[in-house]
Amino acid sequence: MDIAAEPIVAAPPGFFAEEVFWVHHWTDSLFSFKCRRDPGLRFTSGQFAMIGLMVGGKPLVRAYSMVSPAWEHHLEFLSIKVQDGPLTSRLQHIQVGERVLIGRKTVGTLVLDNVRPGRNLWLLATGTGLAPFMSLIRDPDVFDRFDRVIVAHTVREVKELAYRDYITGELREHELLGEMVSEKLIYLPSVTREPFPVQGRITTRLESGDAERQAGVEPLDPEHDRVMICGSEAMNSDCKALLEARGFIEGTNHVPGSYVVEKAFVTK
Ligand SMILES: Cc1cc2nc3c(=O)[nH]c(=O)nc-3n(C[C@H](O)[C@H](O)[C@H](O)COP(=O)(O)OP(=O)(O)OC[C@H]3O[C@@H](n4cnc5c(N)ncnc54)[C@H](O)[C@@H]3O)c2cc1C
Repeated sequence: MDIAAEPIVAAPPGFFAEEVFWVHHWTDSLFSFKCRRDPGLRFTSGQFAMIGLMVGGKPLVRAYSMVSPAWEHHLEFLSIKVQDGPLTSRLQHIQVGERVLIGRKTVGTLVLDNVRPGRNLWLLATGTGLAPFMSLIRDPDVFDRFDRVIVAHTVREVKELAYRDYITGELREHELLGEMVSEKLIYLPSVTREPFPVQGRITTRLESGDAERQAGVEPLDPEHDRVMICGSEAMNSDCKALLEARGFIEGTNHVPGSYVVEKAFVTK
């Protein structure tokens, strides 16, 4: 890290400057934080914004999915720590009381209106690709529109299963969402590089039918089921190929389909 981030006093044009009030480090390469939310920031659960810090007198920002749902009064993010990454080599040191830049524009394809109504909604994530799905599984509309919501989160090591305790515990007790979540949410964590009850990639487990068996739901069917994908470029293209071979059609912000996809990050 050459130039340090500067304290943010005023927001540059196009951004809000929001105070961080909670930071949690999951591992040495993964952390979450919460900051205040300007009432003027509007978004739909599942979308992302540009967020970041001031470096060298200029905003240094990257795309980040909102982890918090649209109705929440604060914002929450889940972040990678790339040791030589321009933003995250600095952002990982953020402290309570400091401010971050939050872009005023919110966009993204992983929103409910981009998939047609259906029976089961599958949310397939690797790593920080879980972020937009944390937002969606805390949005009551998701449970109104689908019978079952299945979150399949794949990581390399067990400790990278961020929010696992929250999803299996606190969320089921949530005052507003607890009943819907207990009835409709199915959590399928899997780990690829360590012993764990469920191992392997989601594509392999969908190909074999193991994922559906484990979730206790009907086999994936483009007539009835909808899928959202958020992972590495390789994971996204493997999932797309599997779904398209079975007749799923990609949805966009203009025409809803039976699946939608977004990159969890861009590989340079
Ligand atoms: C639509 C979209 C949404 C995103 N949402 C999030 C999010 O919610 N949380 C998040 O941490 N990142 C997210 N990213 C990635 C994010 O924009 C940055 O790339 C990341 O914060 C690292 O920034 P950096 O400047 O430190 O390094 P960069 O120069 O941006 O990245 C350096 C390298 O690190 C790797 N990398 C970057 N991000 C990740 C990641 N998330 N997981 C694994 N490897 C990665 C890639 O190989 C990349 O080439 C998103 C990206 C896109 C396109």
